[in-house]
Amino acid sequence: AKRAGRNRYRFFEPAMTLAAQARMALEMALRPALARSEFELHYQPRVDLRTMRVVGLEALLRWNSADLGRVSPGEFIGIAEETGLIVPIGRWVLEEACGQTRRLIERQGRAIRVSVNVSARQLAQAGFVDEVRDVLARTGLPAACLELELTESALIEDMARTAAMLDELRVLGVKLAVDDFGTGYSGLAYLRRLPIDILKLDRSFVLQDDGRISAFDFVKAFVDMAHALRLSVVAEGVETADVLEFLRAADCDEVQGYLMARPMPLDALEAWLDAATEG
Ligand code: C2E
Ligand code: CA
Ligand code: CA
Ligand code: CA
Repeated sequence: AKRAGRNRYRFFEPAMTLAAQARMALEMALRPALARSEFELHYQPRVDLRTMRVVGLEALLRWNSADLGRVSPGEFIGIAEETGLIVPIGRWVLEEACGQTRRLIERQGRAIRVSVNVSARQLAQAGFVDEVRDVLARTGLPAACLELELTESALIEDMARTAAMLDELRVLGVKLAVDDFGTGYSGLAYLRRLPIDILKLDRSFVLQDDGRISAFDFVKAFVDMAHALRLSVVAEGVETADVLEFLRAADCDEVQGYLMARPMPLDALEAWLDAATEG
C-alpha cells in the first residue's frame, strides 16, 4: 500500500514542491538508517559551576546517511517524530547512551551522569517505563546516573498520565529534567505536580536583554525560585566567559556549551576528560 502511495505521488503530483520532495527524500533515507547503523552518539560535557568538574554528559544524536551525508538533528528529529520513527530510534539512543556511559564510568573510576533526550512520542508509549527499567538492568548503569530530558510540551500533553509515569521513573531512581525551559508558554503549574529534578535553561533565556527587566535579574530570579523548589539549574549554550561569569553570579548550578566543549564522539570525549583531569 505504501509503494502504491509513493507511485501515485510520483505520477500524479509532478507539482510537488521542492520542500516536499526534500522532506520525502529525508524520510526515505531515515527509514532504513537504524538497520544500516548510520547513527552515532556524540557527548557534550556538563560542568559543575562551583568545582568546574565534569559531572555529566548529554547524549546528542548524529546521523551520517549513506544517501544524504551528514544530517543535523534539527533537520531530521521533527520528521522522525511525525513518522513515529523516533520511537525505535529513541530506544536505540537510550540503550547506546546507557551502555557507553556504564563502560565510561568503569574506565574513569567515578560516577558520571548521562542525559538522554526523550521526545513526546516516546513518552506517550505505554511501555516506556518498562523500557527504561530493562535498559538499566541490561546495561548495568546505575539509575542515578541516568537523566531524561523532557520538553515542556511533552510534559503537559496529558498531565495525569505523565505524572503517574514520572513518579514511576522517579521510583527507579532516574533523574528528570525539563529541557529548553523558558522557551514555551506552558506556565509553571506543571512544576507543582511533576517530580522534576532539573531545569535546563535555554540559551535564549540567558542572552535576551531587551526587556523591562535585565537578563541578570530575570535569570537570578528563576534560579532562586528553582532552588526554593529544590530544583537544580543547568544553563546550556554557554559560549563566552562573560556568560559563564554571569551564570556564576546568578548562582546557576551547572553549565554546558562550546566554551567548555563541543559535543564529541566517545573516544574524543575520553581523551578530553583525561586531559582535563591531568591539567
Ligand atoms: P537540545 O536538546 O536543546 O540540545 C542542545 C543543542 O545545542 C545541541 O544541538 C548542541 O550541539 C547545541 N549546543 C551545545 N552547546 C552549544 C553552544 O554553546 N552554542 C550553541 N549555539 N549551541 C550549542 P544538536 O546536537 O544539533 O541537537 C539539536 C536538537 O535535536 C536538540 O536540542 C534536541 O532537541 C534534538 N536531539 C538531539 N539528539 C536527540 C535525541 O537523541 N533524541 C531526541 N528526541 N532529540 C534529540
Ligand atoms: Ca537536550
Ligand atoms: Ca535544550
Ligand atoms: Ca534547544
